[in-house]
Amino acid sequence: MFLRSDKLHEECAVFGASLKTPDAASLTYNGLIALQHRGQESAGIAVTEGNNILYHKNEGLVSEVFDKKTMERLSGSYNAVGHTRYSTKGSATHANVQPIVKEYLTGRIAVCLNGNITNIDKLHEKLAAVGVSFAASSHCDVIAALIAYHNVTLNCTEKSVVAAASELEGAFCLTVMGCDGKVIAVRDPNGYRPLCIGKSEKGIIFASETSALDTCGFELLRDVKPGEVVVAQNGEIVNSSVPLESETLGLCIFEYVYFARPDSVIDGLSVFKARYEMGRRLARECPTDADCVCGVPDSGLEAAMGYAFESGLPYVSGFNKNRYIGRSFIFPTQAERANAVRMKLNPVAFNVEGKRIVVCDDSIVRGTTGGKTIDLLRKAGAKEVHLRISSPPFIHSCSYGTDVGDESTLVANHKTIDEIRELFNADTLAYISLEGLVDACSGCNLPFCLGCFNGEYGVKKN
Ligand code: SF4
Repeated sequence: MFLRSDKLHEECAVFGASLKTPDAASLTYNGLIALQHRGQESAGIAVTEGNNILYHKNEGLVSEVFDKKTMERLSGSYNAVGHTRYSTKGSATHANVQPIVKEYLTGRIAVCLNGNITNIDKLHEKLAAVGVSFAASSHCDVIAALIAYHNVTLNCTEKSVVAAASELEGAFCLTVMGCDGKVIAVRDPNGYRPLCIGKSEKGIIFASETSALDTCGFELLRDVKPGEVVVAQNGEIVNSSVPLESETLGLCIFEYVYFARPDSVIDGLSVFKARYEMGRRLARECPTDADCVCGVPDSGLEAAMGYAFESGLPYVSGFNKNRYIGRSFIFPTQAERANAVRMKLNPVAFNVEGKRIVVCDDSIVRGTTGGKTIDLLRKAGAKEVHLRISSPPFIHSCSYGTDVGDESTLVANHKTIDEIRELFNADTLAYISLEGLVDACSGCNLPFCLGCFNGEYGVKKN
């Protein structure tokens, strides 16, 4: 059985490469390694070989899915798309592992998706009505079929991608590769999920986060704009336009709170800086008498550093994290599941014993593990534990690519802050204000989706 921590999870990372050198597969592998935090259930790479598309994909981490032999089989190509997946829609079966490679009358396409399509049932019905059958149950399978469907009449990958993307509603970043040597990146018109473009003398790559560009030795050229379709061929951008429209605009602010790597820069703002500023803001909004500050690894660490800086309290390492356990991990027995937090996090007693400690964490979603974290600190000898959360109370559901279930499962939806404090056995509990969070993220080029906090899923365009 999988045990998932009390955190939101993304629906994945996408990657694409159009190169002047024949090493697209190995470059994509490196990119996916850098994006592994966005999904650990499966991984895949597709490459072009002449007029054909070859691929390899499977369940597991990137390093488990690909070995020397599979990489050799994919080597020699100039174009590739790749994916790491966390399944929230469509089960975690092999058929749903991406890239989805679709065959149609005149060719093949490979498609990767990060996001969630809110009108998927309607699109599924439309395609089923014209005789399209589906091998998988994922949103990406429907998108791939929709592109193939349009290609029958348009006979052009680029036009088919635009036609299909124009029918999609919800959050989506896509990388698509046809047999014609084009690699296409698409970002939904609301801009919910991040997608950037990297450039080097080798060519062009597309990735969910800039950390993948750095790892591959590419420089950030720019972010893909909301609603934009960018086409790369032979290592150059050959076309870009903004054909997709929506009434609202807003990047998911949780990218800064939790999802993205701190060394990434999204839409002009460093994720590290945003988290650090959240901590500073928390220290001003919710000060407390304490001896030191620590963070819950990983995404609570930068906020803890900011809190320490602003409050003047020393920053200490409160926990050691076992880095060899992924965000989703398997425990066969109830006893092992109960001990799961302990296996992942172990308090550093030397830093905690006898201390009044401030602990920064990024969010409380269902409230299933926060109490266990505080319990660990108390058992390690902490005198007082003051919990500080760098996002406001999470009270609404999300349809845009995270695995939040029904609102009734969100602890802040039906408990007061003091009831949650009591549930967690914390001495004090305080959340950053919504205004404070948005302020900490100033510098981002886009407005934000704040739906899970205030029910507003983006801001209306003028
Ligand atoms: S509702 Fe929350 S988690 Fe979902 S996209 Fe908006 S900010 Fe992100």
